[in-house]
Amino acid sequence: MSTYFELKAQICEIGRRVYARNYVASNAGNISYKLSEDEILTTPTGVSKGYMDPGMIVLVDRKGKRRYGEREPSSEIKMHVSIYAHRPDVRAVVHAHPPTATGFAVAGIPLAHCVLPEVVLSLGGVPLAPYGTPSTEELPQQLIPLLEKADAFLLANHGVVTLGKDLLQAYYRMEMVEHFALILLTAKQLGKINFLTKENIEKLKEIREAAGIKGKQFDCSLCKLCF
Ligand SMILES: [Zn+2]
Repeated sequence: MSTYFELKAQICEIGRRVYARNYVASNAGNISYKLSEDEILTTPTGVSKGYMDPGMIVLVDRKGKRRYGEREPSSEIKMHVSIYAHRPDVRAVVHAHPPTATGFAVAGIPLAHCVLPEVVLSLGGVPLAPYGTPSTEELPQQLIPLLEKADAFLLANHGVVTLGKDLLQAYYRMEMVEHFALILLTAKQLGKINFLTKENIEKLKEIREAAGIKGKQFDCSLCKLCF
């Protein structure tokens, strides 16, 4: 079990990674971790996620009200607390605007194509939540109906949010979503997308079950006509 300080340091490390990989620009993006039912660590608002130190991390209650810390909590804290309220299995949330996946979110195309075995094995696919104004209740309201279906989501005309049992899992899911989007876009530009067959997918599901891979799996077979 990580200490309070280690968790704050890990949030900063993930902030550096999302910034270094161009998943956010300027002060965008936010990261949180649920310590207990009524204690959530969150990144502060108005700070580049690439240049945080543990002293900047804010502690809020389950409603997103600041309990400890000098800075204001993330402007998207309403979305984070809403995810924790609806998904008790989730301990960490990462939100960013990785350019390729966000391009799909702007185009209104969910990342739900059965094309890559590792994505089918883990996430299945990535559904698209309808647009909601950032920082308001609209955003979580659009996301709530999808929360039971997946662990990663596109937010229309906005970005991506990923969930995990810990900070690294939520972060790795963000990496996977952007990587998936880039590969899919490349195949589209090359002019041909070969989908995995039903049989391919069934075998992957068996492997997933045998390996005991946990997490929600969004049905990627829905997206054959998404392009
Ligand atoms: Zn955002």
